[in-house]
Formats: sequence, C-alpha cells, structure tokens
Amino acid sequence: MAIEDALWIRQKAMEHQKWFEESIPLIASENVMSPLAKEMIITDLNNRYAEGLPHHRYYQGNKIYDEIEIKTEELIKELFNSPQADVRPISGTNANQAVIFAFTSPGDKIMAPSLDSGAHISSAEFGAVGFRGLKPVNMEFNTELMEIDVDKTKKKILEEKPKVCLFGFSVFLFPAPIKELKDAMDEVSCRVWYDGAHVLGLIAGKRFQDPLREGAHVITGSTHKTFPGPQHGVIIGNTSEEDWKLVRRGVFPGVLSNHHLGNVAALGVTAAEMLEFGEAYAENIIQNAQKLAQSLHELGFKVLAEKNGFTRSHTILVNVVDKGGGKYVAEKLEANNIILNKNMIPGDSNKRSQDPSGIRIGTQEVTRLGMGKSEMSYIAELINNALKGKDVREEVKELKSQFSKIKYCYGDHKAYEYIKLF
Ligand SMILES: *Cc1c(COP(=O)(O)O)cnc(C)c1O
Repeated sequence: MAIEDALWIRQKAMEHQKWFEESIPLIASENVMSPLAKEMIITDLNNRYAEGLPHHRYYQGNKIYDEIEIKTEELIKELFNSPQADVRPISGTNANQAVIFAFTSPGDKIMAPSLDSGAHISSAEFGAVGFRGLKPVNMEFNTELMEIDVDKTKKKILEEKPKVCLFGFSVFLFPAPIKELKDAMDEVSCRVWYDGAHVLGLIAGKRFQDPLREGAHVITGSTHKTFPGPQHGVIIGNTSEEDWKLVRRGVFPGVLSNHHLGNVAALGVTAAEMLEFGEAYAENIIQNAQKLAQSLHELGFKVLAEKNGFTRSHTILVNVVDKGGGKYVAEKLEANNIILNKNMIPGDSNKRSQDPSGIRIGTQEVTRLGMGKSEMSYIAELINNALKGKDVREEVKELKSQFSKIKYCYGDHKAYEYIKLF
C-alpha cells in the first residue's frame, strides 16, 4: 500500500538521522545548519516561485520575499566586502554554470586545475565546462606542495591566452596564487573566476584568502560546505556593471527558474550568524585540520603536503595505499561510523576514480559541533584502531554523544518552539 511506502521512507529517514547522530562526520563538503536557518526551510517560502529580480518579478506573491532576498544579498555583500552578490543559484555547480554562461562562448579556452590535482567535475570536459563546449587547459601543479606552480602556470597563461582563468578545488589545501598570476592574466585580459565552493566559510571568516582583493572578478560557491548554510549556491562579484549584468542574466534565465526561496532565507540567516561567529569558527576549523593532520602523521599515516604544513584549510588528504587503498579504507571506517570519502590524489588516473589512492577528511562539521584539538587526536587514534581491525563503534558513539549541539550560531530555543508548530 502506498501509505506503507510513505511511512517506510519516513522510517528510513529517521534511521539515517539516528545513524548520523552516532557517527563522526568528516566529509569535507558537508555541514549542519543552525536551528534558525533550518526553520526557514520548512516555512511556506519553499512552496513559491520568484522568477526575476526583487520588485521585477513575473509572479505575484513576492512582496515579502523580495525584502528577504534584498536583505540576504546585503548581508552577503557585507560579509565578503563585495559590491555585488547574487543569492539565487541553487547549488555551487549551478553558480558555476551561470558564470560559464555569462563569460564564455562555445569553443573558448578556459584554464583550470586538473582533476587529479583536486579540481571539481564542473570544471572538467565531461562536466559543466564541456557542456558549454569549452576547451579546458590545465594549470600546472606542484604535487609536493599541493599548490599551483606559479612560474609554469604563468608561462602557460601567456602561451595559451585563455578567456577565463578558474581557481578552484575540491581538495583546497592552500590559498590559490591569484596575486602572483594577476599580471599574466591582465596581459592576456582574461576574466578571473574563483570557485570557493569548499572554502567559502573560511573566506567569510577572513582566514584563508581574499580573492576579490587579490584580483578575482567573481567568486562562486556552495553555501553548505565550510559555509554552514543551506544546500544552495552564491555568486559574489567585484566586476564591471556590464559583466555583472551578464552574470545576472546567466543565473536567470540562463541556468535556473525557481531559486528555492526558503533556502535563500536560510542563507540570509547563516550570513548574519557568520558575521558574528565566522572568524572564530574559521580559525578553529583550520586549527583542527592541522591538528588532525599532525596526529595522523605521528601515527604513521602519509598525509600529503607535509613540507607545506599539511593544510591551511579545513581539508587534509591522506595517501592510504599502504592501508588497503581509498575504497577499502573509506568503507572500513564507514562500518565503524566514521564517515569520510575516498579521493584521488595526484598521480591517480581517471580510471582509478572508483578505487583511488587517497581519502579526504574535513574538520568543518566536527568543529561546528564544538570539537577541539584533543578530540582531533582522539579521532586520529580511532581511525588508526579501526584500520587495525578493532571495532570502535562504541567509542565513536560515546564521543559523538558529548557533541550534539550546533555552535557558532544564535540560541536555538525559539526555533525549536516554532518547528514544533508544524
Ligand atoms: C562542491 C563543489 C562544487 C559544486 O557544488 P554543489 O553545491 O555540490 O553543486 C563546485 N566547485 C567545487 C570546487 C566544489 O568542490
């Protein structure tokens, strides 16, 4: 019966919820929302449409929502000290599509890092870049330092003369050398695009780099990775009026119709919370990542970029070939309720994407739950013990039970009262 199917799905969702309550979340691209932000998602807003821009809509019913969207854009501009913001993209990939739509035509050359140096699929030929018919050329990468190689990439920019230079990684360990490459990019007059999907919360917290001041024209991002908001996207700009019009049109009608209004409100709430708590949050995320890297290193794990201090972000990358490979390690840890993902490392070919050599770990979510340095060394120990064959589920559950409340946000009392009303 259909009712049974509906209840079965509800039951499964609750099982999932409970499992995550008892697990350690270390996926570098995920996070949890504050109670106030969550509340926005279950209001009537997510039942509505608001095509176009505030006060210039195609549908009625937006007079109150328009104020929310304008306020959210103001908060984002304040947080990133930027003259322009578009809060409509419904994901990071969608924001990327809008920028590609705005700034390129089929056949144009775009320069971006390669996948095995940590780039995202949206900058690959089989992703959004290829969908637009662009020709990707890769930036040169120093695999020992896990950074873009400035000298070699500068030379390549001058030779290849790309229309757009895209700086962005899904394994974003160190700031990108925008400043260092700015002269070369100016010489070939390419647009500079920073994909901050992973590090948006660190930038908001002023702890990573300041791409707009370093020469980026636009930043795209997901708002649910280190930026602890709803699953959504954003574009932040410091570009000419003309270019900004192209971006606006790229978003709508270019690549979306409905922009998930409740999520925009949740983004606004999160931006307000980040203005207040973002710096402390970003600082602790990075300290925790460095501590976890150091602890794993001391236990004999091959954490990448040792010579460069392992990381300056929320992410660390570990070569686990000697522990059975990325697939085995990620699955073994999942069986112990430690949730992370297998990941390609430099040198892995595309063929190895189902069993790559590495694992990727992010500290943004455990930091948001209030964990600090001593928990980081304990997590390293738990990982080590699990891989030695010990069952650590009880220890994991016990640790997690002490960190169930979301930090770096406003008090949750009112929000929970409200949620109960539904
Ligand atoms: C995650 C990610 C994206 C895409 O974000 P979604 O919100 O999942 O669509 C884009 N670029 C980079 C570098 C990413 O890591």
